[in-house]
Amino acid sequence: MRMPSRTITLVIGLSLTACSQRPVDPALERYIASIKAVDDHAHPMLQLPPGAKPDTEYDALPLDALPPMTLPARLRADHPDWIAAQRSVKGRSIKSPAEALDFAGIDVMLSNRVAMGAGLTSPRFLWVPFVDALMLPLDGRLESARTPDTRSLYALETKLLHRYMNDLGIAKLPASLDDYVKTVVTPTLGRQKKGGAVAVKFEAAYLRALDFDDPDPNLARLVYSRFASGGTPGRAEYKTLEDYLFRVIAREAGRLGLSVHIHCTDIAGSFYSARGADPYLLESAFNDSTLRATKFVIIHGGWPLVTHTLSLMAKGNVYADISMADMVAEPRQFANALRMWLNEYPDRVLFGTDAFAGGPDQTWEAGALLAANSARRALGLALTGMLRDGVVTRERAEHLARMVLRENAVALYGLGAAGAAATGASARSVPERSAPARSVP
Ligand SMILES: [Zn+2]
Repeated sequence: MRMPSRTITLVIGLSLTACSQRPVDPALERYIASIKAVDDHAHPMLQLPPGAKPDTEYDALPLDALPPMTLPARLRADHPDWIAAQRSVKGRSIKSPAEALDFAGIDVMLSNRVAMGAGLTSPRFLWVPFVDALMLPLDGRLESARTPDTRSLYALETKLLHRYMNDLGIAKLPASLDDYVKTVVTPTLGRQKKGGAVAVKFEAAYLRALDFDDPDPNLARLVYSRFASGGTPGRAEYKTLEDYLFRVIAREAGRLGLSVHIHCTDIAGSFYSARGADPYLLESAFNDSTLRATKFVIIHGGWPLVTHTLSLMAKGNVYADISMADMVAEPRQFANALRMWLNEYPDRVLFGTDAFAGGPDQTWEAGALLAANSARRALGLALTGMLRDGVVTRERAEHLARMVLRENAVALYGLGAAGAAATGASARSVPERSAPARSVP
């Protein structure tokens, strides 16, 4: 069949364009690769000698306590990207957690752990402890009976609260809510801050919906004093107390200069409530004028409800990180979310990995590499699109890359002068903090 000559010219023209334009602008790609990132959220593991008892403090609610669940394909150990990342990490024979960061191009990793320890030290690893336990001082039997997932999780929170109280030398719950806040909540946050924490983390979405209302404080006081010494509150009663304590904890954290991280995405668990983790449910808390001194971070960017997250960034004290979402979504798809956010609130978007250990074939070191590579690819695609569409200059595209990968986190957590040695710098370009993280007993 003969093709009309005009069509032939058109076809040749299109294929030349396709050849000359790589999906990510090569100079931008090199620039993005050179930025030493600050990882907003991950679960690095302790560096333990062979034969030591296993590290169990990488999460307050380890998912292995849950009944078997289905994970998105890109989070499974048998996904080709995981296998490739695992192989690169193995081939490199990494000797310390800090070397794993170097390999993934990460300068600082915010470490969401119950406690820090061997190999996880400041300034490369900064601590983000858990605070859900402080919100759950009463018998949660009715709450925990709700689903097969929640059954095991509440007991873990009770254990953690006992540990926090034990650290303070408190054997039993005070009789009044105000005393509980004064002698347990505030001092625990203070200890965490002193222990090097830069933020605190709620993973409440595993336990309940994120609709933290603003209850009458007197009702919360009544529920607490009625059940502090025994008995099981009804679910509505307990919610009143939890909602009140969520706001107290967030307010106290803000006063101490600790950001508040909130797990917000549609997984994980077979009985997890995706609807209960809609970012919009947080709007009531974000609109609390008494919480404006608190900086909130929507961890995992509310994926896949990224438009809801976008709207919440208008609050002035709300940020979003891309941890885990950059693993779950393929880069091209995630680039769309990034581009949308960067057009409206470029100073609110934080890089993150959610590097976690899922078993021998799924190490946190490989997770860090996989997520960092995926995130850089997605960022490259988003910024290349903006550059080619004339939305940003090359200089602005590079600035946006620095903001997402590093500068926004540096500004949010006060890690040092934003932009200082942001590219091609030594891995220690963030100055040591005044309160270095140390292992917490
Ligand atoms: Zn996580």
